[in-house]
Amino acid sequence: MKNSNLGGKKIYRKSLAAFPLLIISGSFLAFSSAHAGTCPFQVIPWNSYKAALSLTYDDGDPIHLDVAIPEMNKRKLRGTFFLISGPLTRAEEWKKAVAAGQEIGNHTVHHKHFEDFKEGEAQSEVELAKTSLQNLFGISIVTFGYPFVVWPPQLRKAVEANNFIARGGGGPDCYLTPDMNPDWYNLSCQGTMTPYAFETYKNWVNQDLAAEAWTILAIHAIEGSNWYQPIPKKTYIELLDYLVQNKKDIWVAPFGEIGAYWRAQKVLEGAKPQKEGSTTTIKWEKPANFPAEVKVKLAIEGDSLKVSQAGKPVKPLSPGVYAVSFDAGELTLANALWKPQTVPTHKTPVAAKAAVIDAGSITAAPDRAVLKVDDFESSSPAYGAAWWEGCDTNGVTKLSPVPFATLAGGSPKSPGHCAGLKGRMAPLQAPWPWAALSLGLDANSKPVDLSAYKAIRFYTQGDGKNHAVALNKASVADYCDFTAAFVSPKVWTQVTIPLTDFAQANWGKPLEKKFNDVLKLTFSPGAADPDFDFKIDDVEFIK
Ligand SMILES: [Zn+2]
Repeated sequence: MKNSNLGGKKIYRKSLAAFPLLIISGSFLAFSSAHAGTCPFQVIPWNSYKAALSLTYDDGDPIHLDVAIPEMNKRKLRGTFFLISGPLTRAEEWKKAVAAGQEIGNHTVHHKHFEDFKEGEAQSEVELAKTSLQNLFGISIVTFGYPFVVWPPQLRKAVEANNFIARGGGGPDCYLTPDMNPDWYNLSCQGTMTPYAFETYKNWVNQDLAAEAWTILAIHAIEGSNWYQPIPKKTYIELLDYLVQNKKDIWVAPFGEIGAYWRAQKVLEGAKPQKEGSTTTIKWEKPANFPAEVKVKLAIEGDSLKVSQAGKPVKPLSPGVYAVSFDAGELTLANALWKPQTVPTHKTPVAAKAAVIDAGSITAAPDRAVLKVDDFESSSPAYGAAWWEGCDTNGVTKLSPVPFATLAGGSPKSPGHCAGLKGRMAPLQAPWPWAALSLGLDANSKPVDLSAYKAIRFYTQGDGKNHAVALNKASVADYCDFTAAFVSPKVWTQVTIPLTDFAQANWGKPLEKKFNDVLKLTFSPGAADPDFDFKIDDVEFIK
């Protein structure tokens, strides 16, 4: 956003740094076995399509009205626009978008970062935005997108209280398969980024199809806008065209619409069918703040089968396929065949592919024998955008100083100030904890080519334990970053780590060790011990 509170840089530093850095386990996808035993119906996943995909757009960037929506309307594509109700402008045009079938979601009143919330403000930010968007558009608002891709407990509580289906942040589980039991208040998505080439998005669509999953794209700016992460218009159009090419197989629909279908599926699968003679009744409760007129497709078999809802017959769409009204809360079947449920054979999790970076978007790092990054003696780094420090907000991990601040003292080389991470990590289990001190290398959040440099060098002092530094490449699409470990001894010590020592963990997609698209430099606590306390100073890249 253009105003200072929502400046692109702030969104960048907060949202990019929010992704988990310490994902230890190799298995991300939790599978449920659908109800065992026999049942007279089966929900057909994704409205009879092979896969589903939602295009979601954040912040009400005017480029959405000028480019995103006209291009979608032209192709009869519908998506979700998470609007910030407070600074909303061009309301009449947004109303036209709604009339064309676009969905409006809640992105709070002011898009404040939770660190800036006053007591009770999380709730009012969620509820006042809901009320004002509902009043403006005359529709129910059923979806929520977390600002800055963070979901502190107070915000999540307000989202749960309103029973919004909510889009969370990125994560390796962004291919949601019908058999999963998802967290409706925090569904993973994947975000478009300025440097990504069309090939990246094509991979995402192909992986979605291969996994027969639902994937949610979080789109920010498009070329012509200077808001967060504008993507080239050509790339955007190629993505839309690719979706149109695959429209027989992919259900492209708003987040709330696909989410409601899937949620209804889970409710129906959880209902207990009651059989009396040849008649089966299935009753369910519609959740609060749930979209109206949702139809769910069921496969039902039986000789002289009769399907009815509220006493009215339901005609099959095709032999054995019925679209039933979820609003009805009831379904009656005469002569239905009870069959063993085919427990969904879940698709093998699709390994994330590396994002393909458009070479034209890469910035070269300055060419120096020693590239000084920061000695923490002045208010901003010598090289790079701004430091950010933070941790997960699941309530257990503690970290200071948050927000980032320099600390008094430092290495013998620049003894005035340094940076530090002190705190305690939550247990290493889902939801995965993380804590980080990171620096975006480019002010416009473009990837930087560091290939000319051979090593990173810095001073460190601390608890004597192992800690980690990561070079976050833009092409890493699964958070399996290249990292290197170092020890923080009791006395200030200079550490030099050759870039060839950086390596990925074994759970992610292995990439070539090339530091030609580095977005961030991140220090984080080692995983061996929950308590950590270490300092960093005089960070440099050397040839
Ligand atoms: Zn936003």
